[in-house]
Amino acid sequence: MSSSIELLFLGTGTSHGVPVIGCDCPVCRSDDPRNKRTRSSALIRIFPDDAAAGVCTNVLIDTAVDFRQQMLRERIDRIDAIIYTHHHADHILGLDDVRVFSDRQGRIDCYSPPFSADPIRNVFSYAFGSASHNNRGGLPQLNLRVIDGPFQIAGHRIVPIKVPHGPAISVYGYRIGPLAYVTDCSAIPDEAMELLRDLDVLVLDALRYTPHPTHFSVSEAVAAARRINARQTWFTHICHRMDHATLAAELPPDIQPAYDGQVVSVGMMR
Ligand SMILES: [Zn+2]
Ligand SMILES: [Zn+2]
Ligand SMILES: [Zn+2]
Repeated sequence: MSSSIELLFLGTGTSHGVPVIGCDCPVCRSDDPRNKRTRSSALIRIFPDDAAAGVCTNVLIDTAVDFRQQMLRERIDRIDAIIYTHHHADHILGLDDVRVFSDRQGRIDCYSPPFSADPIRNVFSYAFGSASHNNRGGLPQLNLRVIDGPFQIAGHRIVPIKVPHGPAISVYGYRIGPLAYVTDCSAIPDEAMELLRDLDVLVLDALRYTPHPTHFSVSEAVAAARRINARQTWFTHICHRMDHATLAAELPPDIQPAYDGQVVSVGMMR
């Protein structure tokens, strides 16, 4: 299948978001819109080869805490599928607002790593449990599908890439054609490296300058990006200690920080 893909950064911030509540650091007080970071999430738009043939397929990565604002800001009117990287609060807590879409479209498939399915079901037991809750019509209608290998959305192959998120848990990155999105990670094991060959666009976690037990620092992320060697690498999940313009100037041109609302064209799928 030959299609073009577009990546839209819905959010590029770490779990607190930027600005951080009550913080008066220079980045939190900055007027640069690229220093306003909602919680990390992205939309992959897959366009059919024949543009006249119809609409694109919208694949959402995570339902961030700021999901509603992100959907309004970007005027998203359809979600065809949701893929979860992991179950941390910043990546799932927007799930309730998906009901606006499922009310219009019907049930939406959402895909979860095996280790995140029960935590997601537990947090949203009213949506996934038996119909004992008295809020008919107010529930997100989702098919939670547990994945442990490559799967397809609307005929497009998606490859999960398991990487560590600190010593205790894992996270799934995802590859679709020449694009890979790998957030909340602290290492790229050899098996993952194999799945990340020949990328045009890589999205990678880069939390802050100083080391962190469960996220790549900037220098660790640069080292990993160099090993993976994508044509272009964009950093996400960025904290308030990093000013966008300063970081962008420090980094090489092929490894740059992303910002909320940024669109990256990924080109033809192979
Ligand atoms: Zn996170
Ligand atoms: Zn701050
Ligand atoms: Zn996390």
